[in-house]
Amino acid sequence: LKQQLLDLRNASTNTFPSVVPRNEFDRKRILITGGAGFVGSHLTDALMKQGHEVTVMDNFFTGRKKNVEHWIRHPNFELINHDVVEPFMIEVDEIYHLASPASPPHYMYNPIKTIKTNTLGTINMLGLAKRVGARLLLASTSEVYGNPTVHPQPETYFGNVNPDGPRACYDEGKRIAETMCYAYQKQSGVEVRVARIFNTFGPRMHIGDGRVVSNFIIQALQGQPMTVYGEGKQTRSFQYVSDLVDGLMALMNSDFSDPVNIGNPEEYTMVDFAKSIRELVGDPKVEITHKPATQDDPQRRRPDITRAKQHLGWEPKVKVVDGLKKTIEYFRRELEQPSARAAD
Ligand code: NAD
Ligand code: UDP
Repeated sequence: LKQQLLDLRNASTNTFPSVVPRNEFDRKRILITGGAGFVGSHLTDALMKQGHEVTVMDNFFTGRKKNVEHWIRHPNFELINHDVVEPFMIEVDEIYHLASPASPPHYMYNPIKTIKTNTLGTINMLGLAKRVGARLLLASTSEVYGNPTVHPQPETYFGNVNPDGPRACYDEGKRIAETMCYAYQKQSGVEVRVARIFNTFGPRMHIGDGRVVSNFIIQALQGQPMTVYGEGKQTRSFQYVSDLVDGLMALMNSDFSDPVNIGNPEEYTMVDFAKSIRELVGDPKVEITHKPATQDDPQRRRPDITRAKQHLGWEPKVKVVDGLKKTIEYFRRELEQPSARAAD
């Protein structure tokens, strides 16, 4: 009753997005680490709208309060400034463990911190899951496949990662995080879910993110040359963020505990991708230039999503072009705010 009264009071005084009413026995207590980031904030929205109690824990390295500010003061929501490398105690039923820098410039900025976040941070969250009996979903990555020699990549492929290269802090960090999940599952009975996420894009990507989608869109919108690294024949497959969020929730709620690829198999070379974005932005005068190739850049990447289809009944719904249109509109608005730009 107290909860219902609180909900009623807030509904009349605040303009929260609408939330499905749920009684307390049916409401899950969910922790999202990295929940103020790009993916985490969309996941927060989806779980809040379903009527669950969501605690976002974030150290704001790349995340922003702005991404979740529309939930602040909602009775089902809590935002905690905390570094996952430090132990954390909370009573929850589920943990979505997303805390980690994700963009290459961000994870290479402080490789030791990236390693600590993915190793100590994951141990802390698995320890918490063990202690309170929560199910944990790890946001792993297609980077566990490194520069793949098998194409497209099924989950059974062991990968081709350089353990000493500049990407290793992230790739190996996520690989050991997966290993930890299965060790805690076998030894301590923790229920784990492992999502191998392929390149994802959408609104709320950080303007200084440095990944290809945001770089190309911002460059094209500003009439600056679009910077293709190397020849641009390397490929990536891009998924829109709403599909990823659906896939993560489907995986968490499934009884399937092996790793699952979550990605959209629509594959582009970087040169073709630049051309598509230039066309959607509608400025044919924008140049496409080449910069030196980066070390250990995976040359091709496309998910085999047979497992997700079979075990989760999930597949992407949003066409890349439709997702790009929404993302271009988001960046157009972001660029119109000089204060936001200066703050970055
Ligand atoms: P992001 O950088 O927007 O979000 C990461 C969040 O984690 C940020 O809010 C950041 O502040 C937080 N964080 C980082 N280190 C932390 C720490 N030590 N303690 C607490 N919080 C910390 O990136 P994203 O794209 O939203 O990625 C989210 C997750 O998904 C990451 O684990 C990433 O590895 C994984 N992933 C993303 C993609 C993608 O294309 N977006 C692809 C593969 C995997
Ligand atoms: N890339 C590019 N120009 C950019 C940024 C990235 O050509 O301004 C290329 C990069 O070399 C890689 C691909 O785009 O081949 C995807 O890079 P991103 O950093 O988005 O993610 P990754 O999949 O490498 O983690």
